Amino acid sequence: MAMLRAVRGMSDVPPERTPAWRRVERAFQETAARFGYQEIRFPMLERTELFRRSIGDATDIVEKEMYTFEDRNGDSLSLRPEGTAGCARAAEQLGLLHQRRVRLWYQGPMFRHERPQKGRYRQFQQFGAEAFGMSGPDVDAELVQLAAALWERLDVAGALTLVINNVGGAEDRRRYGAALSEYFMSRAGELDEEARERARGNPVRLLDSKDPAVIEVAKDAPKLEDHVGEESRRHYREWKAMLRALGIAFEESPQLVRGLDYYNCGVHEWVTDALGAQNAVCGGGRYDGLTAQLGGRPTPAAGFAVGVERLVLLAEALGKEPPARAADVAVLGGEGAEALAMAARLRRRRPDLRVVADLGGGKLSSRIRRALESGARAAVVLERADDGPAVRIRAVDDASRSVTVAPGEAPEALAAFLGAPDA
Ligand code: AMP
Repeated sequence: MAMLRAVRGMSDVPPERTPAWRRVERAFQETAARFGYQEIRFPMLERTELFRRSIGDATDIVEKEMYTFEDRNGDSLSLRPEGTAGCARAAEQLGLLHQRRVRLWYQGPMFRHERPQKGRYRQFQQFGAEAFGMSGPDVDAELVQLAAALWERLDVAGALTLVINNVGGAEDRRRYGAALSEYFMSRAGELDEEARERARGNPVRLLDSKDPAVIEVAKDAPKLEDHVGEESRRHYREWKAMLRALGIAFEESPQLVRGLDYYNCGVHEWVTDALGAQNAVCGGGRYDGLTAQLGGRPTPAAGFAVGVERLVLLAEALGKEPPARAADVAVLGGEGAEALAMAARLRRRRPDLRVVADLGGGKLSSRIRRALESGARAAVVLERADDGPAVRIRAVDDASRSVTVAPGEAPEALAAFLGAPDA
């Protein structure tokens, strides 16, 4: 029988890579907490309607990338393709948004049926930060500041560039969509049926089409920036001034539209040259209309999401991953539960150390080899001398560096042998 394999685009993280993941996860959790963001958890499965209303019916994500199915009651459910919609739904449902300001973060798997390649998967992890109840550009600046602090902490700041744009308010975008649609339909003869369909439904998507005929027509299309109203312009100007005041560099790109319908005004992405085609590590923006679109109270809001795989890949590409050691100390030898009891005593004395009991017996040389492979620096060898049990503490990679003590003295002797805990 053929061995069963994982679903395409859904990867396992092998144990030697989980330390790199944990480093990134811990950095995000702690950085978000330091900015006063609190963790929220919400389901991976939601009503399909939630994503249709928020991300938008005519977007790539909803049209062709969601894992959607009917459950046993005949309800249409979808695995979440992103976190903002579920986060906003949960915050509203939990009553967190009523005349309050809340800062939230979440972390977890998202699902999109995209064509897998390096940095693009069908199950991937996101961290998100979302701020509700604050309408000024200062919170947009704070979100960028939070992401920048995370890059700083992970030592990847030098490889990331912030790109921003103003996509206008909902009304601006409606007018722009109508103008675009009219423009593309005026040149319908140059477009195929699929493109004409887009021109009627969601003409903005034609702007990043790969079809040469569409690219040609799109060259003279109306520009979004000509349709952005004064209020959005002011908000965006103030946001940029704050970023400058904070010393956060950015580039502006009219091409940055983000593929989700709920954004308005300032949007942003952090991109890198170090990862190839999938160059966006983080993206977000303001989405003041979202909660009302979901049937809740209108609430100003803004947020971003980080792709964890891409951030881990970036840290690896820059050589920032932590060592993937399983153990610091190996305990070998002894009879019955002696090794387990000694390991427990050592762990009590030095909670910072990973102490692994080498179980299952075998020759000393193969046990030392296993200890080396586990990354352990010290081996604690339980021996039986003529005058009773003894413990030899030795460097795993150098038998000549060793001390022999009575079992009761082993925890202190090990602590002295290894020196102070790592910072
Ligand atoms: P989005 O809101 O779609 O821009 O997603 C936010 C971030 O999630 C992106 O900047 C990526 O880092 C990450 N991301 C999105 N889609 C995928 C995917 N299919 N595989 C891996 N990471 C992804």
